[in-house]
Amino acid sequence: MPSLRTIAHPFLILLVLVITNFTNGVSLASQVDTVIEKTQTESGATWELGYTLDKPSQQLVFVRNPDASRTTRWLPKSSDIEIAYDTISQQEIVRSKTGKPISKVSFVLTPTYKHLGKDYAPFSPFSNGGNAFHSGRLFACANTCEDEHNEWPITLKVPSGEHIVLNGRVVSGSASWVDKNNGRQVYVGKQQPIITDSAVALIDPALPESIQAKLEYDMPNIMAYFSHSLNPLSTEKPMLFASYAMVDGHSSQGGTLPNQIFMHWNRNDLDKRAENSDFANKTLWFFAHEAAHLYQPGNTAGVSENDEQSWLHEGSADYFAALAMKYLYEDANSYVKRRITHAFESCTQGLTQSTLADAYKNGHFNLYYSCGMVMHRAIDSVVQQKTLGEESLFTVWKRLQKAVSRGMPPGTATFLALLEPYNAPELIDAINNATSDNDKKAILGLQTLYRMGE
Ligand SMILES: [Zn+2]
Repeated sequence: MPSLRTIAHPFLILLVLVITNFTNGVSLASQVDTVIEKTQTESGATWELGYTLDKPSQQLVFVRNPDASRTTRWLPKSSDIEIAYDTISQQEIVRSKTGKPISKVSFVLTPTYKHLGKDYAPFSPFSNGGNAFHSGRLFACANTCEDEHNEWPITLKVPSGEHIVLNGRVVSGSASWVDKNNGRQVYVGKQQPIITDSAVALIDPALPESIQAKLEYDMPNIMAYFSHSLNPLSTEKPMLFASYAMVDGHSSQGGTLPNQIFMHWNRNDLDKRAENSDFANKTLWFFAHEAAHLYQPGNTAGVSENDEQSWLHEGSADYFAALAMKYLYEDANSYVKRRITHAFESCTQGLTQSTLADAYKNGHFNLYYSCGMVMHRAIDSVVQQKTLGEESLFTVWKRLQKAVSRGMPPGTATFLALLEPYNAPELIDAINNATSDNDKKAILGLQTLYRMGE
């Protein structure tokens, strides 16, 4: 049974990729044009992918190489073309079996869910025949991807009766765009997105009603709450994807890309799981946490640094999710309380094994969520006390947004400096202790913060 944390786990790993794969700049390297086309016949849907190179090259390689699954899931349309996995460079290579330079290659794809431990799933199928795919999976380069190349012209064609949802817009027939960085999720199918003032959502109609309702009606409310409590988003409307494959399986993956939040369930037992009311709450919490990130300064790309300062972004996102759920639903109160108690317990337990500063290096990344939430809860409480309820944690975060927009770094130093005017040395001391590298001090600091939040 995946808990929220295992569900959220791929996101943590993806953050690392986000940072390491991020490159800027345009290159004059050999251009590769990508065309992906879905066709629908009586026997089913076919997804074909073609690459056209402007100069014949020895091979085609990919930006993202999480495993060797393209070698079995991408079927070359020409018998002279193969995808080989090179174990030394750990990458998949498209080449001619007879050594001819290649200038145009095409494949038939396998459009089912494939779990990639360290990357976004290539396809997230919906129960009603729709599919979201991850464009970054397609990014390919002639000969090598090691230059500054970061522009990927892609054309997508879909059958009549179906449409594309790209960057929040519904398009029929075909769409072309220049992709970059880590790519994006693109939907193809018959389902119309739900378009609200705050988001564009594709929610699988086979999901249990309790979850559908939470995502359809409550997510917009949560985002409106964040827009009101912090500052409204200056980006285009974010997209939410919730796909439910309804197949035999036990995996789920949740993740984010810039301005996109998604969750896929590759299983068929959600009706049963939804009988437990915590399941809908957990799902909503996941989306609320990710939505909170969209409002964080220095995080407009939907990515945050993966380092010892992560308690700032992960802890506040979890605490903001708690606040949003508490504000919007009385009946979520006991769930939120349990999560806070659990966060306190797992944080103090975890601090006996790792300091907060080192947690990202030694597999204890969850401490940034749990300890960070306890810390933000204490800050909220102290700020409210000191200002007789005039201000709250949101006020501090709004100031952080402002400071960052003026060029201050979006990290803990800027944030902690904003707490100085509240004249709360006991709060600052407790935070310093909680983040110190002495485990006894850290636990004491955390216990003090937990009490301050009561
Ligand atoms: Zn997060």
